[in-house]
Amino acid sequence: MKKGLLIVLSGPSGAGKGTVYNAVIQKMPQLKKSISVTTRSPRVGETEGVHYYFKSVEEYDRMKSDGEFLETARVYDNYYGTPKAPVFEMLEKGDDVFFEIDIAGAKQIKAKYPECVSVFIMPPSFEILERRLRGRGTESEESLAKRLGSARSELAEYGCFDYIVFNDEAEKATQRVMDIISAERSAISRNEEKIKSMLEIKTEI
Ligand code: 5GP
Repeated sequence: MKKGLLIVLSGPSGAGKGTVYNAVIQKMPQLKKSISVTTRSPRVGETEGVHYYFKSVEEYDRMKSDGEFLETARVYDNYYGTPKAPVFEMLEKGDDVFFEIDIAGAKQIKAKYPECVSVFIMPPSFEILERRLRGRGTESEESLAKRLGSARSELAEYGCFDYIVFNDEAEKATQRVMDIISAERSAISRNEEKIKSMLEIKTEI
């Protein structure tokens, strides 16, 4: 059976990757979400098992040492990880799995699973990225300063990705990500088994 696609969406914080991710999921409901583990506390409106699996640092460490993660990263002051088993189950079933994770995690996935499709969401300019981060109003001055500090070096990581999408307007960026997913589904390399089995069928004269 044809395996599903593993699609990773990443980029610096403030690039708007969360908004684009949610919009793509809405428009392509056949995509399966990967639910991450995090050690941060739930925010208002977040539900266990829907947005994240909220774990203690001890439980996260145990899962990590037991090899339960596909990738892990420390993002600012919290730990995040993608549970491996559900992702491989979905891919084996032929489902396409869509992730929104930080750049370090995206690079780990590309190294372990090179056939994944990685998309870097780029803000249209550094000034706009700064404005978006400030506009969120959810960050303390200290966390804002940290995020701005790392944003420049994060932007320079685009070269590790397969595609870049400029998020000038969320709707256009969403469409571009959807176009990439559709094109990747049609790649020869991803359809070779089907093509070969078609060619092997001999027609009776
Ligand atoms: P937040 O705490 O705001 O939900 O997410 C903070 C950052 O963590 C975002 O950049 C998000 O992409 C990233 N993130 C969420 N889940 C994962 C994960 O499983 N692995 C990695 N590496 N990053 C994640």
